[in-house]
Amino acid sequence: MHRDHDIAIVGGGAAGTLAAIHLLRQARPGLRIAIYEPAPRPGEGVAYSTRRPEHLLNVPAGKMSALPEEPADFLHWLAGRAEYAGAGDLSGRYLPRRDYAAYLGQRLEEARASSPATLELHRHRITALQRRDGGLRLQWDGGSAGAARVLLATGNALRPLPARGAGALAAPQLLQAWDSEGLAAIAAQARVCIVGTGLSMVDVVLTLEAGGHRGPVHLLSRHGLLPLAHVPDSPVDAGLDVDALLALGLRARLRALRQRVAAAAAAGLPWQAVMERLRPQVQALWRSLDAADQRRFLRHVVRYWDIHRHRIAPEAGAVLRQLAGSGRLQLHRARLDRVAAAPRCVQVGARDRHGRELVLDVDHVVNATGVELRVQAMRNPLLEQLLGEGLAMPGAHGIGLATDADGRLLDAAGQARGELRVIGSLRIGEAWESLAVPELRVQARDVARAWADLPA
Ligand SMILES: Cc1cc2nc3c(=O)[nH]c(=O)nc-3n(C[C@H](O)[C@H](O)[C@H](O)COP(=O)(O)OP(=O)(O)OC[C@H]3O[C@@H](n4cnc5c(N)ncnc54)[C@H](O)[C@@H]3O)c2cc1C
Repeated sequence: MHRDHDIAIVGGGAAGTLAAIHLLRQARPGLRIAIYEPAPRPGEGVAYSTRRPEHLLNVPAGKMSALPEEPADFLHWLAGRAEYAGAGDLSGRYLPRRDYAAYLGQRLEEARASSPATLELHRHRITALQRRDGGLRLQWDGGSAGAARVLLATGNALRPLPARGAGALAAPQLLQAWDSEGLAAIAAQARVCIVGTGLSMVDVVLTLEAGGHRGPVHLLSRHGLLPLAHVPDSPVDAGLDVDALLALGLRARLRALRQRVAAAAAAGLPWQAVMERLRPQVQALWRSLDAADQRRFLRHVVRYWDIHRHRIAPEAGAVLRQLAGSGRLQLHRARLDRVAAAPRCVQVGARDRHGRELVLDVDHVVNATGVELRVQAMRNPLLEQLLGEGLAMPGAHGIGLATDADGRLLDAAGQARGELRVIGSLRIGEAWESLAVPELRVQARDVARAWADLPA
């Protein structure tokens, strides 16, 4: 089969771009790499395409290097930027996410310029991937290309609004949380209902606030939990023995953690320090749970885990607390049921846990329900095709795709084929923690180690 590329990367968000940077840096001469990404600029994806300065990284700058072996690389890049001249030590700061896109874009161009390999960027959405004559064939609307190896980096999918009637609403009545420009255009007095109270909700609230919004903002979520904030300087609880936790089942682990948080508090350490100590070991913690405990975690613990693990910048937390305290944000603990366009508003219907109906008349509903983990609900034609033809199967508990611990895709028979790998959130079922840059850069480096020097 004719091979257009040695390696094709499907998806040019942060994960695909990190993989390309590592491949280019480690490549043998002549290696042909391609990224397939419909968006115009690689490195942006859903997290870093925002142009809004109020949308901050939720990881301090000192932990966002693209290169695991050079942990200060993002800081070095920032030091060369005129806007940060004289800003002092930025390692503990939570900077605008758009800076991170610029960093990845520049590092990609530098790696490309100095690599003995070649990189092509193609603006196609891949719709199918087939095995043909000992290679792989990628298809898009109107064309196809051959590749010896393919890295799937298709990333995050937005969860659709879980409400009857949602399909009949369109922008601007129904807006998606990642549509920053649509949100910025909301009138100052407009009534807004944000569905979902995770990190995407925080972005929406910050954008409304930055635009001088003064109307009522309703926050709707089933459990009514708001994201918690980082504390400055991210202290680490060195006293926590994570290896001892690995030997425990879920229930005993949670008990041990609660005890540790109390002990840390007595020693003057915030609970965040315990989470910081756990953070590098989250994959090991997940993998050491048996299937039943993983299921229990997903059913009963994950919502509490998420607000403690995925924390927001201290400054974002301060804005959220202030707005909630002033009554401008009204939190409703209820399950969304229906949305409908009425003559002068959108009507949002929800039910609380006692079955009582809540009806809100608003001008805009914002879908901030976050990312879809269940691969069969992602509505990505490529993933559908891979599942349908048995080239892939859903990951553990139906989340992400089934892979081995090195990210090799498993087919429907459970066989790993080395020429198809996965990076990023699609590895969630096997690794759980597989979303943020500290994991993505390690996965990207490992793909490059496996593939960069393969013979043509
Ligand atoms: C709002 C938000 C803020 C975040 N902030 C941080 C942070 O501060 N720090 C941190 O470490 N992590 C953060 N994260 C986690 C974040 O998900 C990752 O850092 C990063 O976005 C993951 O990149 P990705 O490439 O895996 O996914 P994505 O960003 O989703 O990119 C996937 C890309 O694949 C493309 N694609 C999908 N299907 C196809 C196809 N069939 N063919 C071709 N292309 C396709 C899409 O167009 C997209 O550009 C944040 C996440 C969100 C949602």
